[in-house]
Amino acid sequence: MISSVLPTYSRAPLSFVSGSGSWLVEADGRRFLDLGAGIAVNALGHAHPALTKALSDQAGALWHTSNLYEIPQQRALADRLVDLTFADTVFFTNSGTEACELAVKMARKYHFERGAPERVEIITFLGSFHGRSSAGIAAAGSEKMTHGFGPLLPGFTHLEFGDHDALNAALTDKTCAVMVEPVQGEGGIRPLPDACLKGLRDLCDAHGVLMILDEVQCGVARTGKLFAHEWAGITPDIMMVAKGIGGGFPLGAVLATEEAASGMTAGTHGSTYGGNPLGCAVGLAVLDHVAEPGFLDEVSRKAGLLRQRLEGLVAAHPDVFDHVRGSGLMLGLKCKIAPADLVNAAYAQELITVPAADNVVRLLPPLTITDDEIAQAVDRLDRAAASLS
Ligand SMILES: *Cc1c(COP(=O)(O)O)cnc(C)c1O
Repeated sequence: MISSVLPTYSRAPLSFVSGSGSWLVEADGRRFLDLGAGIAVNALGHAHPALTKALSDQAGALWHTSNLYEIPQQRALADRLVDLTFADTVFFTNSGTEACELAVKMARKYHFERGAPERVEIITFLGSFHGRSSAGIAAAGSEKMTHGFGPLLPGFTHLEFGDHDALNAALTDKTCAVMVEPVQGEGGIRPLPDACLKGLRDLCDAHGVLMILDEVQCGVARTGKLFAHEWAGITPDIMMVAKGIGGGFPLGAVLATEEAASGMTAGTHGSTYGGNPLGCAVGLAVLDHVAEPGFLDEVSRKAGLLRQRLEGLVAAHPDVFDHVRGSGLMLGLKCKIAPADLVNAAYAQELITVPAADNVVRLLPPLTITDDEIAQAVDRLDRAAASLS
């Protein structure tokens, strides 16, 4: 008989009942050190007092009114994002894949309104992940995500990640946009080198093509900058955000320049829940925290510490690990064994990690992880690796 929960996930036999900071408590009382953070979502860890307060204060005042009315929390969060980034305007969603939907619609509408309705083709990259909506799976295009789901949304060209020659050849007068993750997450923590991102920006400019960055996983301070593209010194036209921005509350956003957003006039897009007071109150608390002076430097410092310890771990277990890669606190351990084996061995050490494609195990700790917790995490990984070799 089918499970009452649609069986689209193969789940680990763990049920967590509470959390605090970098720790999750299992129903049986075991305390797990969390280097997954709900897949890069709990940016400030579990039960952060400022987020709990923002949510419960808002819950006591007003949950939902709809976008038929002004939503002050939404305006405040949009103002804050506009202040802190390249963007002139923001639309809020409930998830990353909804952000992908709007990014695609916005880019196509931009060209349509400028008299180039034939510009619909969006270039994306192999190994990418943009969520599970029809546009999201068509954008990523992998067999695993699209198989059996009938006609795909047309207008996507998939290229090898970082192949400039292929990109040059693929840009035509039908190209609408390039959509790329500055650091691929699900694809196996594959950072696009800064020079590539710069080159991509130049190519987009030269061809009148919009640059859409998917920072759903790598954004919101994860790499040590508020958004990962800042490392390359470029700005996109449109950016997808989700995961960390809500700190665990479902919240996503599309950020855009005024120019790129110019086709999106009243009535062209909407969402019942997107930008509701609860999500935006939490998002504002997250952003206030990560934008505090010194926060990003701390992320980078701790990332350096974790990375250094991981290099030592890789050297100590050459039969288990190939190398470490990634950016900031978005790190991947490229394995020589099946990543699921390492993830399971880590569970046995009460440590949470997340598998990814390309034989990689992801480490995406809360950005608030302490030095001591980093040391404990690496000790646990060391024991997990030792149990496998
Ligand atoms: C998780 C993710 C998405 C999809 O977000 P959902 O909230 O699961 O819809 C899109 N893009 C990237 C890069 C992601 O990591």
